[in-house]
Amino acid sequence: MNAQHHRKHSIPLACINCGTITELRDFPGACPNCGETIVEARYDMGSINVNEWLAALKTRPSSLWRYHEVLPIYDTANIVSMGEGVTPLIKSRALAAALGLNHLYFKDERQGPTGSFKDRQATVAISALKEMGVDEVVVASTGNVAIAYSAYGARTGVKVWAFAPALTPNDKMREAAIYGAEIIKTTGNYDQTKQLAAQFARAKNLFLDKGIKSVAATEAMKTMAYEIAEQLGDELEDGGRWRSPDWFLQGVSGGLGPIGVAKGFRELHDFGLVDKLPAFGLIQSTGCAPMVEAFERGQRVATPIEDSQTIIVTLATGDPGRAYQILYDYVHENGGHFTSATDEEAFNAIRILARNDGISVEPATGVTFAGLFRMVREGIIKPDDVVVVNCSGHTMPVEKTILGEQWQKLVDMTETSEIPALPPQDDLVAALEQINAASKKIVVIEDNEEAARLMSRILETRDDCEVHMAHNGEAGLRLVQRLHPDLIITDLMMPGVDGFELINRVKADPQLVNTPIVVVTAKELTVREREQLDEQADMILQKGSFIDDTFVEKLIARLN
Ligand SMILES: *Cc1c(COP(=O)(O)O)cnc(C)c1O
Ligand SMILES: [Zn+2]
Repeated sequence: MNAQHHRKHSIPLACINCGTITELRDFPGACPNCGETIVEARYDMGSINVNEWLAALKTRPSSLWRYHEVLPIYDTANIVSMGEGVTPLIKSRALAAALGLNHLYFKDERQGPTGSFKDRQATVAISALKEMGVDEVVVASTGNVAIAYSAYGARTGVKVWAFAPALTPNDKMREAAIYGAEIIKTTGNYDQTKQLAAQFARAKNLFLDKGIKSVAATEAMKTMAYEIAEQLGDELEDGGRWRSPDWFLQGVSGGLGPIGVAKGFRELHDFGLVDKLPAFGLIQSTGCAPMVEAFERGQRVATPIEDSQTIIVTLATGDPGRAYQILYDYVHENGGHFTSATDEEAFNAIRILARNDGISVEPATGVTFAGLFRMVREGIIKPDDVVVVNCSGHTMPVEKTILGEQWQKLVDMTETSEIPALPPQDDLVAALEQINAASKKIVVIEDNEEAARLMSRILETRDDCEVHMAHNGEAGLRLVQRLHPDLIITDLMMPGVDGFELINRVKADPQLVNTPIVVVTAKELTVREREQLDEQADMILQKGSFIDDTFVEKLIARLN
């Protein structure tokens, strides 16, 4: 491909407090004049002929980098792209009719490379890091940022350290792990996890992604505004004029999305491309709604929520800090509303949206729709308003919560069918084992599935370990007998065959008697139990003590 590179000589940053200009590549992290840490990129649109630019856009590749003139990258050769952005703006049919809205649109961010609008942030941030020569980055994430950064990081060799709060669904973090990110799951909430990530970055001298204080991140999010205005222009205006919606709605946590989108519309207004800025509908989970609570009290500063009560962890920022003030000011100037929705309302909204319009979204977006329903009911959003909803995410981790157990019907075909049988399970396993012959086999027997997964994840960060799991004693014993592992890690308290019996049976089997055994337990051991284990087990670990490197090192030592 004949790639044409574009270079900018300068990307000025303006302090949002005093306006002092610094250069992006030299930015010291705070305004040299007043110490403010939030700065905004400025672009010289005066030097661009807007009509030529609009015409050129039509011929550019379908990615948000078609707006590269207004993105914070010096040399487009450094762009790391997978076709993110330029997601469809889909007009709602049935749901709009049910709500009595004439112009309801979904900005379908599910269609990005990793399924959320965090793809935008990742492509710009990772490209900017690459341009600066940074090759490791630390993020705190409830899932989507970790997934997106991991994917883009993998593509260009930037290593990602992703810190996730306790409530993050494992399905999400596993997706990040697939891309090779280091996943650190904490026992804390989102705010605590952010602090831990910052400490870690400082201690290891690694680059920390700074959310709303990151120029790359806010600039990335503004591309939603550009796309919406361009797409609504095509849809509603003659002659290719761009157009702002009356409303932009999003579920809000840290506030990065709407802050970026606000900057985008402000730029478009300054360039003369749109007539006005949209009102914002900003929706939080009732169980963690510091912005909504402050807004309802008429306050410009939010009181942090210490104990979040929502399972929708994507929206569980308890302390929004400066982001709330920026959004509060925006809403004061341009209109808008903060409201909240319960987890139950959010799950219900997901079902309603999916059944009416064929779009299934993740819980954070369910919150947004529940908020939309409320704002329509309360007369805040009017029938003729042009409304755009930021839709993100697949429902995969929560389908179980929404659908319950009775979601499918089974047809028993064993009597009538001629469908060839699948190869027996054991053959498959045997075949797989041959492929992995070089690695050490570890069997983890643990009835708490979360604990088992945590352990296996820690072990699997070693390339030379292959972890098999069983969730009760019987299954564990069968696995051990079949695999002859290099190490057995077992819990003690399990229903049926418990750890003590399992160990007895292993020790009674001449083929298994020499297999090292590590016991992980939360149980207070009796003197007799301790004697038995001292004799039969190689190591006894207290539960909860194993989430660190030394745990892995100790186990690996047992393998050799
Ligand atoms: C990150 C995220 C949010 C919250 O975004 P902010 O703009 O940072 O408040 C909401 N919904 C989804 C799907 C997200 O991934
Ligand atoms: Zn300043």
